[in-house]
Amino acid sequence: MAGESFIVSTERLGWPPPRRGRRRVFDLLPGEVQTQMVHEIDPGEPTATCHLQIEAEQEALCGYPWECLIEVPDRRDWHALDDCLKCDICEDEAVERALEGYRRAAAVVFDGDEQVGCLGVRVVGWREELGPFWRRRRQEVGELPQWVLLRTAPAHPALPHDAEGGVVPDEALGNELRAWSEDTFTIRGTHLRLRWLSGNEIDRVHREVGWMD
Ligand SMILES: [Zn+2]
Repeated sequence: MAGESFIVSTERLGWPPPRRGRRRVFDLLPGEVQTQMVHEIDPGEPTATCHLQIEAEQEALCGYPWECLIEVPDRRDWHALDDCLKCDICEDEAVERALEGYRRAAAVVFDGDEQVGCLGVRVVGWREELGPFWRRRRQEVGELPQWVLLRTAPAHPALPHDAEGGVVPDEALGNELRAWSEDTFTIRGTHLRLRWLSGNEIDRVHREVGWMD
């Protein structure tokens, strides 16, 4: 399953030259107004908030106007950007979109050329218990992917159990979705390869996993 690829763009590239001999250490000086998007010092470096776009002439995922954005050169990887440069709304929106692809998914799992298992993936609402025990309440905290891996090979060092699974924790979500979009699945330090399935084959895996009767 190929991940959606976005254009990484920014509100500003590089720094304007320092004024009155002052050394520029951070951002624009008070009273200084941005009149262009690319500046001569470090013109390849994003120096303001970065956003994600689907098309160059289309607003960012957060709604920021494309006219005020410039593409970061060298097809910069969003994940390699400093966190303080990333637009939180674009980031959340990108994860949300990526999650859509895993609402009902399944893959055959390979170790090298050997088929070792199959993987079922779905998205579940995740709740947290809040409050003291006498007023315990459960609150929906969001949606997360759930996976179950069934071993089909007779024995495999990374897959000691016939079946195992879990819910991808929120803090690992971005990385896990990225690995899945690159057709990889890592368990106990072993990198397995995924071949995503479609249609009836997904149903078959979900039935085996016990998600369908
Ligand atoms: Zn944004």
